[in-house]
Amino acid sequence: MAFITINKQNFYHNLNQIALKTGSVDKIAIVLKDNAYGHGLELMAKLASEFGIKHAIVRKTVEAEQIRSLFETVLILGDTIIKDDIYSFTINSLEDIKQAQRGAKVELKVDTGMHRNGIALDELDEALVSIQERGLNLTGVMTHFRSADEFSSELFWQQKKFEMIKEKVRKAKFAEVRFHSHNSAAILRTKSFDDDLVRVGIGAYGYNELPAPFEKVELKPVMTLYAKKVSTRVLKAGERVGYGGDFSTPKEMLVSTYDLGYGDGWCRGDSTQPYVISEGLPILGRVSMDFVALGSTKDEVCIMNDAQKAAKQLRTISYEVTTALSPEIPKEVI
Ligand SMILES: *Cc1c(COP(=O)(O)O)cnc(C)c1O
Repeated sequence: MAFITINKQNFYHNLNQIALKTGSVDKIAIVLKDNAYGHGLELMAKLASEFGIKHAIVRKTVEAEQIRSLFETVLILGDTIIKDDIYSFTINSLEDIKQAQRGAKVELKVDTGMHRNGIALDELDEALVSIQERGLNLTGVMTHFRSADEFSSELFWQQKKFEMIKEKVRKAKFAEVRFHSHNSAAILRTKSFDDDLVRVGIGAYGYNELPAPFEKVELKPVMTLYAKKVSTRVLKAGERVGYGGDFSTPKEMLVSTYDLGYGDGWCRGDSTQPYVISEGLPILGRVSMDFVALGSTKDEVCIMNDAQKAAKQLRTISYEVTTALSPEIPKEVI
C-alpha cells in the first residue's frame, strides 16, 4: 500500500523557526484540524507534545478527544459549546453565546475584515456583556487575517483593529484572556510579535506560502508520499495506457502500476499535462481510483516530497494537496 513518511527532524526544525518568531514554544498552538493537514492527527499531536507544545487547535470535539491527554488546552474551532477543563470553544456569533453551556471556556472570534466567521466589531460590547451574563469563562479573544500571505498593507489595518479590540477587552477586566491573531503567513512575516499565542498550521508542516518579496524563513516539508508497485508489463510502441488510453507508448517500454489513486486523495489532475513525480517521471495517462502508471520498475517510488512544488503542478496550494490525502494511508515516523 502507498505510505507516508513523517520526518520528525523537519517538523521540529519548523517548530523551532516559529519559536524564534514568537520568542517561546509556550506561545505556539499547533493547528491539527483535518487530520493534521493530512499528516495524521494523533501522530502529529504526539510529536508536537514531545517537542513541548502545550496548545492545540482542531475543528471538532471528536478530534479533540483523540489528543486531549497531550495538551494543556485544546481550542475547538466549530462545535457545540460545552463545559470542559481542557477544551475551549470558538464563539463565532452572538447566537453561539446564547447556546453555550454555562461555565464553558470560550474564545471570542472577532471579524476584523475576513468576513467569514466571528462577531462584527460593533457587536463586541454586547458580546462581552452577554458572555458575562451567561456565566461563560472567556479565555481567549482572536481574529483571523484574510491576506497575511500577500504583499500588501491589508494585514496592517486588520492588526490595528485587533489592537483596539485588545484595549476594549482589557478594560472589561476579564481575568485571563489570551489574544491571538497570527496564522503561519502572519507569524513568518512578522518582526515583532506581541500576542499570547500563534495558531500555526501549514508552516509547521513545512510550507512557507509567502511570496518572494518577503524575507524567506527556510522550512522543511514533513511529509513524503510513496507508492508501491503492483505489477509490470512490457508494452510495444503505440500501445495505450489507462482509461481512455490517454497515453501511448512512443517506443517499447516497461510500464508498472503503483498503488495510489484519486481514491486515496491524490489529485486526478489532467493527463494532457501529467504530474511529474518527485523522482522526475511523469504519470502515464489518467490517474485511476486506486492506481497510477509509471515508466519504472522500482518496487517503491516517491510520488511527492514537497507539497508546495506538487501544488504548482496541480494548480492548487500545498494545503489542499496534503489535506486531501486519505487518513487510511499508513504513516511511519523517520
Ligand atoms: C486553519 C486555521 C489556522 C492555521 O492557518 P495556517 O495558514 O495553516 O497557519 C489559523 N487560524 C484559524 C482560525 C484557522 O482556521
